[in-house]
Amino acid sequence: MTAPTKLPDSLPVEENTRTTESTAGKPTAGASTLAVHAGEARRKALDAVTDAIVCSSTYTFDDTQSVIDFIEQKQPREEYGRYGNPNERVVEAKLAALEGAEEALVFSSGMAAIVGVLMAKLNSGDEIVFFDQCYHRSREFCFKHLARFGVVTHQVKTGDFDAMERAITPRTKMLVSESPTNPHLTCIDLEQFVALGKAHEIETLIDATLATPLNLRPIEYGVDYVLHSATKYLGGHNDLLAGVISGTREKLESVRQLRGVMGGINSPHNLYLLQRGLKTFQLRMQRHNENGQAIAEFLEAHPRVERVYYPGLPSHPTHDIAKRTMLGGYGGLITFLVKGADWRETANVIDRVKIPRIGPSLGGVESLIEQPLVMSYFNHAPADRERFGITDNMIRMACGIEDTADLIEDLRQALDS
Ligand SMILES: *Cc1c(COP(=O)(O)O)cnc(C)c1O
Repeated sequence: MTAPTKLPDSLPVEENTRTTESTAGKPTAGASTLAVHAGEARRKALDAVTDAIVCSSTYTFDDTQSVIDFIEQKQPREEYGRYGNPNERVVEAKLAALEGAEEALVFSSGMAAIVGVLMAKLNSGDEIVFFDQCYHRSREFCFKHLARFGVVTHQVKTGDFDAMERAITPRTKMLVSESPTNPHLTCIDLEQFVALGKAHEIETLIDATLATPLNLRPIEYGVDYVLHSATKYLGGHNDLLAGVISGTREKLESVRQLRGVMGGINSPHNLYLLQRGLKTFQLRMQRHNENGQAIAEFLEAHPRVERVYYPGLPSHPTHDIAKRTMLGGYGGLITFLVKGADWRETANVIDRVKIPRIGPSLGGVESLIEQPLVMSYFNHAPADRERFGITDNMIRMACGIEDTADLIEDLRQALDS
């Protein structure tokens, strides 16, 4: 090691002294303590309690020898913004601690993270197997784009492990799923998922965006890569886009290298917003979980509601799996069907709601509501909608952190009138 980076006396910064480091799977503190403190230096620039936003696109060296020392010994310091920045390091350490993972890599969106890990890990001729209820852009990336590079994607019915096993060939390199899925909130048996991967020596990836690290701990089951759209609960305020992929340092090294080349990184300002959002992650998530459960129960008991998809309800087809795997709660996303309603009558319910705003996305403090048929499948053929289980009378509500009673009262008036 060479001498640490010299800092002017007015900027006393402890070198990467982190308060609540976690080792894989074993958090050293509770989730809220980690959310506030993990990854952050105890003493920061100018004795501030919050981190400074370091806007620099590049980083300078004292002299040529310092450059050579950096190149030869790669001591921890910044070089150029595409390869990392101080705000990114803090957020990544915080996210790794929350996930119970060795390392986390932050991207400019959830999609950039998915594209990054698949591009880094797959070569021409490789194959992947997907459970079919997954984010439509992830599917699109595989079928439309990875296919152009000779990667073959197989899609099988969600939760059907026999079908997944039958789709595996000697060229299969990755098994991919979400848990819970959107909009049906199907939960995956992670023990079976990981066992199948291990039996065939294939890596596994879970998109756990809808669950968050508070509700689901895929790393503890042995999942290789955990992905989140940080745009949702992790950022939590409907004001930024970001994505994160977690796993071991060794497995993520090629993903990090590719990110440095593709350039799908975040600006320091965006990272600061994510860091700020993360401070209240555990608190917000508790309310999302409470609202989700209470509103799902209200809806299930309402005479105008035909069916509710929520993993915390015993009526959900994968409730038993959810009970075993989602230990923190079941999240804020609820899908329900309005009894006997055509698409217009369903739209009328949405248009009468006063608190949730109409829009895609989920996981922010503001509740959002939408009709999947209109929002995501308007231009799709009826057969396509049927295939993905999108019915005319389906409503998806992403519960925010508003008062439970207010949201219930609002839904009641919208359904009753
Ligand atoms: C939103 C979402 C994504 C994509 O994330 P972006 O941040 O919008 O790019 C991927 N997976 C799931 C489950 C999502 O909800």
